[in-house]
Amino acid sequence: MKEFRYCPLCAAGLVSSEIEGRLRSLCPGCGWVNYKNPLPASACIVRDGDKVLLVRRAVDPFAGRWSLPGGFIEAEETPEDGALRELYEETGIRGKIERLLGVYSQETGVYGNVLVIGFLAVMTGGRLKAGSDVSEACFGIPEEADIPFESQRRMLGGIKGRL
Ligand SMILES: [Zn+2]
Repeated sequence: MKEFRYCPLCAAGLVSSEIEGRLRSLCPGCGWVNYKNPLPASACIVRDGDKVLLVRRAVDPFAGRWSLPGGFIEAEETPEDGALRELYEETGIRGKIERLLGVYSQETGVYGNVLVIGFLAVMTGGRLKAGSDVSEACFGIPEEADIPFESQRRMLGGIKGRL
């Protein structure tokens, strides 16, 4: 990941300083500290028999590869709302959350460490179509989809044979 070199608030050059036990970038002008935390995202599994709803990504990381529907949670959203919004935006499917499956760390390179909150959701309506940031959306066998995100493989592993 690229590093901030200037303060995003006052544009002063940042300095490295030990704060709360770690070297962090500090603004000597206004005191802003570049705390680095995982980015919260949510993803969901929507099942249809042995198949799950999958999207082929049109954006990096892993453009062209299959994934579960999901994405970053907006500031005003709950993780559940974020998961259902991304589900609708990417697949045209409306859903409701059934339950939390787990919380997973995913190293992404582009976005650093992403905290993925995984839900099981059920379809309530809508019409299946490839939406934003995806080139295809369909129900498929997850083992055959070669999903590149370890967090999503763990999510899928967690429901295997348990429903
Ligand atoms: Zn500053």
